[in-house]
Amino acid sequence: MLKGIAASSGVAIAKVYKLQQPVLEIVRKDAEPEEELKKLDAAFTKTVSDVEKIKEVASKSLKAEELAVFDAHLMMANDPELRGQIEDMIKNDRVNAEFATEQVANMMVMIFESMEDAYMRERAADIKDVTFRLKCNLCGKEIPNLATLDEPVVIVAKDLTPSDTGSLNKQFAKGFATEIGGRTSHSAIMARSLEIPAVVGVKGILEEAKDGDPVILDALDGTVILNPTPEQVAEFEKRGEEYQKEKEALKAMKDQPSVSTDGHKVLLVGNIGSPADVEGVLENGGEGVGLFRTEFLYMKSEDDFPDEDTQFAAYKQVLEGMGGRPVVIRTLDIGGDKKLKYYQFEEEMNPFLGVRAVRFCLIRKDIFRTQLRALLRASAFGKLCIMFPMIATVGEFKEAKKCYDDARAELIAEGVKVGDDVEVGCMIEIPAAAVLADQLSKFADFFSIGTNDLIQYSMAADRMSEPVSYLYQPLNPSILRLIKMTIDGAHKNGKWCGMCGEMAGDELAAPVLLGLGLDEFSMSATSILRARRMINGLSYAEMQGLAAKAVECDTEEEVSELIKNCIGK
Ligand code: PEP
Ligand code: MG
Repeated sequence: MLKGIAASSGVAIAKVYKLQQPVLEIVRKDAEPEEELKKLDAAFTKTVSDVEKIKEVASKSLKAEELAVFDAHLMMANDPELRGQIEDMIKNDRVNAEFATEQVANMMVMIFESMEDAYMRERAADIKDVTFRLKCNLCGKEIPNLATLDEPVVIVAKDLTPSDTGSLNKQFAKGFATEIGGRTSHSAIMARSLEIPAVVGVKGILEEAKDGDPVILDALDGTVILNPTPEQVAEFEKRGEEYQKEKEALKAMKDQPSVSTDGHKVLLVGNIGSPADVEGVLENGGEGVGLFRTEFLYMKSEDDFPDEDTQFAAYKQVLEGMGGRPVVIRTLDIGGDKKLKYYQFEEEMNPFLGVRAVRFCLIRKDIFRTQLRALLRASAFGKLCIMFPMIATVGEFKEAKKCYDDARAELIAEGVKVGDDVEVGCMIEIPAAAVLADQLSKFADFFSIGTNDLIQYSMAADRMSEPVSYLYQPLNPSILRLIKMTIDGAHKNGKWCGMCGEMAGDELAAPVLLGLGLDEFSMSATSILRARRMINGLSYAEMQGLAAKAVECDTEEEVSELIKNCIGK
C-alpha cells in the first residue's frame, strides 16, 4: 500500500495506466536511402492518422477553438517543406531516418524559437510536438494520450499538467495518482472540479506500478493499493458505494440556506476555473461563485493573451449562468508555477516570490486594462465582485484600483453600459496584507483569504514541495491569528470577508472559521453540501467560544483536538 494525500474524494478501482513520455535514444547510422525513405513515408502517414484520431476523440469533449491546435499539427505533418528537408538529408548524407528527422527538427525549432514574432515562436512548440510523434513512430514507440483512453483506468504519472487534466475523459479516467503535488497543487484543484478521485504526492508510485496492474485508488484516505486481494476489492467497492450514497443524501441540503442553529447566516459559494464549472456550482447548491481563477482562460489560449471580446464572453457567461448570485472574479494570477505558452517570463530564482499575479499586471498595465475592460463590460449582466490577487501593500491595492477606475471611466465615456454595484476587493494571501487588514479595508470593498498561499508564505514552505508539506497547517494557531486579524480588519470598516483557499472547504476548519466570523466560504463545488450540513448543525455563539480558545493554543494538534471535542467527532 502506498500513501499519499487525498486530493479529490472518492474511490476508484480499475487498471493502472502509466502516463509517461517515451524516451528516445537516437544515434547516427549509415543507411541505405531507399529503405529509410520508405520508413519515413510510413511514419508520416501514421503521424497524420494519429493526430486525426486524437482530434476526433477530443472533438467530443473540447470546443472548436481548443481543437485548433490539432489543425496546426496536421498542417505541419503534411508540410512538404519539413518532409523535403528530411528526405534531402537522408539522400545526401545516407543516414537513418530517425537521425535526419531529429537534425531537421532541431534546426527548425531553433529557427522558430529565435523569431521576433510571438506567434511564430509559439510554432516551435508545435514543431517539437509533431516531430516528436514522427520520431516515436520511426522508433516504434507509442505516445500516451489521455483523450484517447477507451477503458476504465487509474492514471499514474509524475504530475499532470492543467492541460492533461483538461483533456481527461471522465468516462474512462476513473482517477489519478501522482508522484508529486499537494492538496493545493493545480492538478488536485482540477480533479476536485472535475469530480475525479485523486491521490497526489504518492512517492514511488511510478516505479511500483506496472501498466495494466489492478489498482484501488482510495482518495478518501489517500492511499493506493496495487494488485489488491479480492477481499480488498470487495471492501473498497462497498466503501465507494457508501460514499456515493452519502453524496446522494447530501443533495437534500441543496436548496437550504447556510445558517447556524442560532440564526447566523453565511454564504457557501464555489471556486471555478472556467464558465463550464458554473453548472457544478449550481448543482451542488452554491449560493454564488467565490473565486473564478481567470488564469485558466489565459493558459488555454494558444498563441496570445486572450482579447477583450473573448474574455468578455467568458465573464458574461459566468455572470448570466449564476443568475444574479454574487460572482467573485479574480484578475490574472500568472507566474509562480503557472506559465503561458506565448509569453516568456524573466528567469527568477524564486518565481513564487517574484513577478506573480497583480505584480505582473501592474508592470503590464496594457494586459491588465484589457481584462478590466472585459470584466466591467460583463458587470452589466449580473452581480460582479472583482478581486486582485497577491496584494502585499496598501499602495499596490490603490494602484490596481486606479487601473480599475480608469478602465471604468473610459468605458463610460465610450457609452458602454457597466454595472453600478461592482465591488472591488483584495485577496489576502500574503502575511503582510493580513497584518495590515484594518488599513486595507478602508480602500477595499471586501477581502477573500487565499489560504493556499497565505500558509505557504507564512510557513515559508513551498506549496509544491512534498518534503515540506507537513508545514501546510491550516489549523496552526499562527494561521488562525492571521485569519482573525483579516476578518476583524474587514469588519472594522464594515466590509465582508470571505475565504477561497482550500481551507474554506475543510470540514474540521469550518467550526473555527464560523466562530472567527468568516462571512463567505468558497470551495470546490463538491464540498459545498457537506459544509452546509456542518454549518447548519453548529451554534455560532458556541463556535465563537471555540475560536477564542483555538487562537490561544500552542499547536495545530491542540486546535484539532479542541475542535473534535467540541463537535463530538
Ligand atoms: C490561494 O492562494 O489560496 C488561492 C485561492 O489562490 P491559488 O490557489 O489560485 O493560488
Ligand atoms: Mg493564491
